[in-house]
Amino acid sequence: MRNAVIIGSGCAGLTAAIYTARANLSPLVIRGVEAGGQLSLTTLVENFPGFPKGVQGPELIELMKKQAEVFGAEFMEGDVTRVNLSRRPFTLEIGEQRLETRALIIASGASAKLLGLESERKLIGHGVSTCATCDGYFFRGKDVAVVGGGDTAAEEALFLTRFANQVTLIHRRDQFRASKIMQDRLSRNEKIKPLWNSVVVDILDPGKGEVTAVKVQDTKNGAVSLKPLHGVFIGIGHSPNTALFRGQLEMNEVGYIQTHEGAKTSVPGVFAAGDVQDHIYRQAITASGSGCMAAMDAEKFLEREH
Ligand code: NDP
Repeated sequence: MRNAVIIGSGCAGLTAAIYTARANLSPLVIRGVEAGGQLSLTTLVENFPGFPKGVQGPELIELMKKQAEVFGAEFMEGDVTRVNLSRRPFTLEIGEQRLETRALIIASGASAKLLGLESERKLIGHGVSTCATCDGYFFRGKDVAVVGGGDTAAEEALFLTRFANQVTLIHRRDQFRASKIMQDRLSRNEKIKPLWNSVVVDILDPGKGEVTAVKVQDTKNGAVSLKPLHGVFIGIGHSPNTALFRGQLEMNEVGYIQTHEGAKTSVPGVFAAGDVQDHIYRQAITASGSGCMAAMDAEKFLEREH
């Protein structure tokens, strides 16, 4: 029987681990399939306070993990496959293993969205990617495309210019959603060419097991054209990792966990932190802040109930 189990090891989960460990709750962190969360997929983080020269995302995550370990947090590899939140203690299954906990902090984050094309599914890892930081290196001197018009797409496109010959930014409207500073960086970069009012309708060539071109449709006149290239990065946003909790916790219409009075969820003893409950701010610092709130709320709950 655990006092506190934390699902997820991004900055929300790790901050919750630091705080619950310092409160002597001996937390167990289940790291999940995307261990380290989205920061571990980025390079330079320039806006996390305390690092005037910036800090590499994976390094920041490693530092947070070490800090949690200093105070006695434990870590378990693996992914939670089932939870039962209908009675206390809550039960969790991680493959064959079964755990019980008095308090649960959910920090399972959000994952990259895909376009939903059959060819995209077949070519993922073979020229189609959702992470420029992870895969950009493979496209040295090649032509690639990034799909999307928000900050994620802008960041991916800018990062890819380090390797790629040309980056086509394919956006379905004629205006970016990305922040002003990112838009300025995009327009200053000669390697980036926007392709407005365009949607990717197919990716070639699953038969060859590699990307050779994208089929793009103009949203204004319906014309379809073929653009030869070697890689496609999908940067169209994220969806929350909440399938496990469906029907057990209150969520909003797109599946983000609903929190109230801090990090409380609709089930007493279950708390949520980070991108799994925040579709607005989604920053490392806000995720960390909400991880701290979840830990403090869990501590108060345990003090009262046990
Ligand atoms: P957003 O929701 O902001 O943008 C998603 C983009 O993808 C939009 O331009 C959208 O088009 C497009 N899109 C969505 N679905 C499809 C589809 N099926 N086909 C084609 N295009 C599609 O998500 P982001 O992940 O970019 O950003 C989320 C939040 O995270 C924002 O608040 C952002 O500021 C923040 N963020 C900040 C970063 C930073 O500060 N460095 C880095 C990354 C994210 P449309 O515009 O037409 O809706």
